[in-house]
Amino acid sequence: MEVNEHFNKFPNVWEQKGELKEKIFDFSEGYKKFLDRCKTERECAADIVAEAKKRGFVSLEEVVKAGKYIKAGQKIYALNRDKSVILFVIGEQKLEKGLRIVGAHIDSPRLDLKPCPLYEDTGIALMKTHYYGGIRKYQWLSRPLAIHGVVFNEKGEKIEICIGEDNDDPVLFIADLLPHLAKDQRQKKLSEAITGEGMNLLVGSIPDTDYEGQEKVKSNIMNLLHDKYGIKEIDFTTAELEIVPAGMARDVGFDRSMIAAYGQDDRVCSYTGVQAILEVENPKYTAVGMFMDKEEVGSQGNTGSESMYFEAALAELINLQEGTSGELSKRRCILSSKVLSADVCAAFDPNYPEVSDKRNVSFIGHGVQMTKYTGSGGKYSCNDANAEFVSHVRQIFDKNDVMWQVGELGKVDQGGGGTIAYILSNAGADVIDCGTPMIGMHAPFEIVSKADVYMTYKAYSAFLASSFER
Ligand SMILES: [Zn+2]
Repeated sequence: MEVNEHFNKFPNVWEQKGELKEKIFDFSEGYKKFLDRCKTERECAADIVAEAKKRGFVSLEEVVKAGKYIKAGQKIYALNRDKSVILFVIGEQKLEKGLRIVGAHIDSPRLDLKPCPLYEDTGIALMKTHYYGGIRKYQWLSRPLAIHGVVFNEKGEKIEICIGEDNDDPVLFIADLLPHLAKDQRQKKLSEAITGEGMNLLVGSIPDTDYEGQEKVKSNIMNLLHDKYGIKEIDFTTAELEIVPAGMARDVGFDRSMIAAYGQDDRVCSYTGVQAILEVENPKYTAVGMFMDKEEVGSQGNTGSESMYFEAALAELINLQEGTSGELSKRRCILSSKVLSADVCAAFDPNYPEVSDKRNVSFIGHGVQMTKYTGSGGKYSCNDANAEFVSHVRQIFDKNDVMWQVGELGKVDQGGGGTIAYILSNAGADVIDCGTPMIGMHAPFEIVSKADVYMTYKAYSAFLASSFER
């Protein structure tokens, strides 16, 4: 017997016959463009809303203002403070029968400028940063960096800034110590060799010769920024300026099977989730795509998943369906909802085999990953999806030719982590983590397989449109 059909195997997507390969490559082109356009949560939110509007989505404010009952098939977006966005396609069934939700996040690890960033030291102008999310600091040195974000001037006008992405643009830079003088640094632990306060950006070195005071280089930089953007130093206190790796998404490998790009955690699940919900028409249950901010810092705050914003939007919709904001209807809705927490997961990396259990880790190119539970240690702080719900999702995927695999985040006691899964799960919904396997998560450039990107999209499409009941 060559094959025992009772054995389990998660096949390689690339080994499938037919047109699949072509579809995978086509899909990844749109994805790479999205990655190049959107490097911050604000850029993602604006892009998602623009695409949604093209497909007939109308803002929740407009719908509320019109005050008419919502109808099945209606498409609505809710933009929260330009940093998170939720898309709804209203189902045939009432909202209290539950939603089908794909929830991803659009913030990524980065360096933020401090409120008073600019200073001069020995004739060099620098800017101070404060890192955001789980970065490995040494990875941010010796690489071209771009600045994206918004500044509000004294009149309260918003100025958008993006420098470092065009080939002609200057970039910013944090230099690393030369090996010749790194004798002391080399003895330090990796986590201590580079300090947060040492992450200062090189931003200029030409003095302002018309200025007679101290800090002539800083003066020149401030003049340049004022000439171009009309901003003064105090305006940095009313700004959100994010430092991200400069450069575009690139194909990886002689066979172009993978993509390297900044912020694929979690823009891979955001992009695939957006594409999936934009194609949903007349679902049985209301389909929802959530694209949230602040996941990398614990989902707190009014644009994160812990905020009451989603529930408030839901209450508005229930009011527009039933003529009452019905607390009970809202609770029934969440209790009956089924959710994919759409976030990336750690794929097996042949360079670091020791951190994973080879029998319980995903491999790139073998499809979207379902993660029954996350957490660390003895599953501490995890969302552990009920077997009934895992079975429910498995059947949806199998019926729709979604190639999927399972995995844990590393070996037992090796570390761990979580996603936004627990939040809606605590509220009473059925939730499972389901996303794209990734190599080099949270690095300035992260790697995914194009095959898995496509299977993630297929998984979210099938789930959002599912009317299947357990
Ligand atoms: Zn993530």
